[in-house]
Amino acid sequence: MSRVSALREVPPTAGLPPRWSDWWPTGTRTPLLPPGVESGLLQSSGTASLVIALETLRQLKPDRHVVIVPAYTCPLVAIAVAHCGLELRLCDTARDHFDFDPDALAALCDNRTLAVIPTHLGGRTADVAHSLVCARANGAYVIEDAAQAWGAQINGRSVGLHGDIGFFSLAVGKGITTYEGGVLAARETSMREGLRAMRERVLERRLGWELLRTLQLASYTALYRPAALRVAYGAPRRRALRAGDWIGAVGDAFSMTIPLHRVGAWRRRVGERAAVRWPAFAATLRSQALRRLPQLRAMPGVQVFADSPGAEGAWPFFLLLLPSQPVRDRVLNGLAASPCGVSRLFVEALPDYAYLTVRAENAQVSHARDFAARTLTISNSPWLDDARFSEVTARMRALL
Ligand SMILES: *Cc1c(COP(=O)(O)O)cnc(C)c1O
Repeated sequence: MSRVSALREVPPTAGLPPRWSDWWPTGTRTPLLPPGVESGLLQSSGTASLVIALETLRQLKPDRHVVIVPAYTCPLVAIAVAHCGLELRLCDTARDHFDFDPDALAALCDNRTLAVIPTHLGGRTADVAHSLVCARANGAYVIEDAAQAWGAQINGRSVGLHGDIGFFSLAVGKGITTYEGGVLAARETSMREGLRAMRERVLERRLGWELLRTLQLASYTALYRPAALRVAYGAPRRRALRAGDWIGAVGDAFSMTIPLHRVGAWRRRVGERAAVRWPAFAATLRSQALRRLPQLRAMPGVQVFADSPGAEGAWPFFLLLLPSQPVRDRVLNGLAASPCGVSRLFVEALPDYAYLTVRAENAQVSHARDFAARTLTISNSPWLDDARFSEVTARMRALL
């Protein structure tokens, strides 16, 4: 890295840059909803959205208590299921993929299944149709985890509207942000009403939480620029990496308690003003990604995730699968400590997080483990300009 660029920290995902003008009471606003989603409920986080979704479904089918999730996903999903007192059932992923192994999913669904959670990772889409077939055959529901897929579409319809319920995340690092936040959506009016009623029943105003989140969003507005991020995000990250603590470096260590509260109007409006810039930003990310995909694909043995037929995903970062764990680790050892946006998604398959007490009796999760061991991510932030992106690919090539 050149000396000047080494002072500019590229965040691991392409967040929409916040502006102080978003805090000003005037200015255009647009609802905090992904493109093509006409109605949604704002929540205190993506995880809180999942909690409300699960509680709503449980009310509809009180005799069911099993939730099926991919064995490679965000630990917060497991924490939400545990919070609801439901039983987590891990389904292995397909070989070389983050999505369910289709046969394993079909075999796991039964009349105790409450919900199946297909997960759209890194802006790429999962096969919701297959999850629906397996769920419906057993009278279960489908919740789409679209936390990383704001704006992604399948056959021209937004993710989150293909299953029964979908949720999106407004957390830092996921795109548009209210520091923490989430959006719940549902295709059918009756389900939307059920979600709304559950939210009214469960959520209260919590002045303390709202104040904290507002301050955090303000710090984020102050610090989300390349030089400041080097101190606020890069320095602690590099410290964790030096200690060999990948879970700390990528922020995979979550609290087991989930703050459930309403989002205040002021913070919502800050997000709504930022959301006005989203369509143009998303278009920039998309064209940058499509331009860079061929460069990434040209690297020997590297698989780059792109859109499956009929899908038009979002582009927060590139998800890459390397030929083996030693090769992946060699690349990460060479690049992860540089401020150039090379990182990992979730560090482990769910049963392998020591802090997370996931009961995974007899769970077959070998593909998910292999996926966790061979993937890495490259930021699609516009701050990774063409020159630095070429430096990254050149260094990767040398390390391969
Ligand atoms: C971030 C994330 C969540 C949780 O969203 P929060 O807004 O952080 O609570 C759930 N699932 C996936 C796949 C995620 O990446």
